Amino acid sequence: MKLDILSIGDELLIGQTLNTNAHWLSKELNLIGFQIRQHTTVSDEEIAIISALNEALGNSDVVIITGGLGPTKDDLTLNILTKYFGGKLIMNEDVYQDIEKMVTGRGYEMNELNRQQALVPDNAKVLRNKNGTAPGTWFEKDGKIVVSMPGVPYEMKAMTSNTVIPWLKEKIELPVIVHKMIYTQGIPESQLAEKLEDWENNLPNTIKLAYLPSPGRVKLRLSSIGNNRQEIEATINKEIEKVKTIIGKNIFSLTEDELQVVIGDLLRKENATLSTAESCTGGYIAHLITQVSGASDYFKGAVVSYANETKIESLGVNADDINQYGAVSKQIVEQMAIGVRTKLNTNYSIATSGVAGPSGGTDEKPVGTVWIAVASEDGVVSKTFQFGKDRAINIERSAIAALGMLRSLIIQ
Ligand code: AMP
Ligand code: MG
Repeated sequence: MKLDILSIGDELLIGQTLNTNAHWLSKELNLIGFQIRQHTTVSDEEIAIISALNEALGNSDVVIITGGLGPTKDDLTLNILTKYFGGKLIMNEDVYQDIEKMVTGRGYEMNELNRQQALVPDNAKVLRNKNGTAPGTWFEKDGKIVVSMPGVPYEMKAMTSNTVIPWLKEKIELPVIVHKMIYTQGIPESQLAEKLEDWENNLPNTIKLAYLPSPGRVKLRLSSIGNNRQEIEATINKEIEKVKTIIGKNIFSLTEDELQVVIGDLLRKENATLSTAESCTGGYIAHLITQVSGASDYFKGAVVSYANETKIESLGVNADDINQYGAVSKQIVEQMAIGVRTKLNTNYSIATSGVAGPSGGTDEKPVGTVWIAVASEDGVVSKTFQFGKDRAINIERSAIAALGMLRSLIIQ
């Protein structure tokens, strides 16, 4: 069962509004068994809307449209769809009451524009809107379904979950779609693909594989479609077991948990605590860790030791060593990790020191040079990385690499 998503609105095309509707709808509708064929975004213009609709209906069984349902002249979708399917607009008493309740409830009087919004096509089913004034509509023609909903995300979401999905499930027998994720860290996409090449070539053709890279991590997605969920899951799980034997060390999650969640679980299990000493990451690692609810069980705090004097005064880093080796060095990052671990009295610690850029690089230590150390009662381990030129990405990569090193240290 193929489904198209058609987003309507000039604001989407001029980069004013991010098309979050298509993103959310894709996830929800794929989850119930639709293959999302295409996203199309068009302006509030009759020709554009009709040509996109023709193309969508020519290729998919269901078309979900959002946007263009406001009461003002710039919103054209409802009129166009009504005409397209050969109907006319008529007053709907229930919708009128919904709108009246909404408008008077907010302390306004009904005006002409509000009244016009109670006009619905005589050739469609109405989707009542509990959160706004524009109703949605459901057209059916030649076995295909076209649903039109308001663009306002929370109105569209409620309408989708409360009405559109239940109606689609009732009307169409949908297959089971299963996606399973393998989260990896510490190995670039190209190297990962090389290691997995043989396995990938021998994958059953019912399984689709995707590589989804982000700074410092690559997520693998295995997808399959069929009728029997148990069978599909068993087939995918068998393949995941094979991947584990090839790149087991790099896999940190099979449950879609990010590194900070995985580390939290590991620390809690050990009854252990953590602290960070952050220079180039500026507290970003602490931020990631404290995004996890319950982090107070194991996270004691961070020293954002950006200046050299803070490294010296707050962490006990040796001033002569900073002069001799520079702040971005093995010696200093190790002293930072040991210093914060002692100062905050934790089992584990992380330290970062690097040139995030875009300025501040030298021939010897170009932008993107980062030293990371992790410490435990057994001592300190450090490593240098050469990342790129983008400051935000360097910070992100440093944090992920640091969390990866800590994870390795805890599980070793
Ligand atoms: P409309 O139904 O065209 O009156 O849309 C109302 C508002 O919803 C717009 O002003 C946008 O802010 C928002 N909106 C419309 N389409 C989308 C979309 N695809 N994703 C996110 N927001 C949207
Ligand atoms: Mg609009």
